[in-house]
Amino acid sequence: MNKGEHGTAQPIFCHECGLLLRASPLPEGATAKCPRCGAFLYRHRTNSIERSLSLLFGALILFVVAQTFPFMTLKMEGREQITVLLQGCLEFYRQGLWPLALLVFFATTAAPLAKMACSMWVLLPLYRGRQPRHGGRVFRLAQALRPWAMMEVYLLGVFVAYVKLIDMATLQLDTGLFAFCLLILVMSWADSALEPAEVWERLKPSTPVPPPPQPAQGQQLVGCHACDLVAPVSSGHTCCPRCGAALHVRKVDSLARTWALVLTAVILYVPANLFPVMTVISFGSGEPDTILSGVKALIAAGMWPLAILVFVASITVPMLKLLGLSFLLISVQRRSSWRRRDRTRLYRIIEGVGRWSMIDIFMISILVALVKLGAIATIEPGVGATSFAAVVVTTMLASMAFDPRLIWDAAVQERKPA
Ligand SMILES: [Zn+2]
Ligand SMILES: [Zn+2]
Repeated sequence: MNKGEHGTAQPIFCHECGLLLRASPLPEGATAKCPRCGAFLYRHRTNSIERSLSLLFGALILFVVAQTFPFMTLKMEGREQITVLLQGCLEFYRQGLWPLALLVFFATTAAPLAKMACSMWVLLPLYRGRQPRHGGRVFRLAQALRPWAMMEVYLLGVFVAYVKLIDMATLQLDTGLFAFCLLILVMSWADSALEPAEVWERLKPSTPVPPPPQPAQGQQLVGCHACDLVAPVSSGHTCCPRCGAALHVRKVDSLARTWALVLTAVILYVPANLFPVMTVISFGSGEPDTILSGVKALIAAGMWPLAILVFVASITVPMLKLLGLSFLLISVQRRSSWRRRDRTRLYRIIEGVGRWSMIDIFMISILVALVKLGAIATIEPGVGATSFAAVVVTTMLASMAFDPRLIWDAAVQERKPA
């Protein structure tokens, strides 16, 4: 990152513990971490914008191929079923499960495409040395879409569905799937090549921001949650002049909102596990499967690694997430000073693993699209799948609503009177 190259080191707030730091120049490839909580702050990447932009162009082509070419072909009892990527969403929609249809469409198609488009909207003019229109807002959207673009989770769902079906039918992997795998590689390469801090530094605020004063002057500063711009509270900005996000010292009503979302997820967790997520109908008869009975069926078929994967992703991870968030909420409310660094690390893990619970939903979307061979075999989605998807989404929203800096605020207040 180029901080420091243009003059004095700029002040930044650590987004996980709220510590005010000075961004100093880094050698190539190096990473800056917060000395207090260990959070990742920024990196130095050369040609970050150029490299990321060219990879995004490649990704766009692969995206078109993955969406238009056949994804997988299922052959069974002389019949053939060819699937494209979006067929799972259509099948959910036809069965009346439109919230699931929307979610799968958003996570596998809309969010990745919008993320690519927004990044290119900003990077292309910057590469040519110009300022993009509404650059700050568009790049903020691109960054906000990151956790919702779940192509790699979808691929794992494809893998689980493939292993489940391989014994009962012949499966052929098609061009669309290969393009999809390449797309995931190129997209994650583009993500790791891009240094957001460099993009933010090159984007000019719409209204001038007074230069941040020295900390010694005792002026209260506020850091933008989205783009890390630091402005004095006295400058009177209510929205970030660079990216348009609302400016506040801490996330508004973080504890109340997180509790509300955690409790909603706990309630939804019950129907998600009680009701069937899908029904396999073969030659006119079939048993509905809940998440747990699906895991049991995998064990009965001797597919141990897969059973463990589905069990961990669908049952253990959501439960541990809810327990972990409740623990963080209670510890913050009790102003605990116990192991702040470890609790921040726990939050980081909770935030990172949540999206992987979608494996089961994606697997079902592939199964219902592939296995619709009339009387021979059909797989129908169940209402439990909608509740389960709602659990995953609410836990993701809950971890986004939680402000990890609250873990450290008690410490700052303790120190102040001294
Ligand atoms: Zn920190
Ligand atoms: Zn901002």
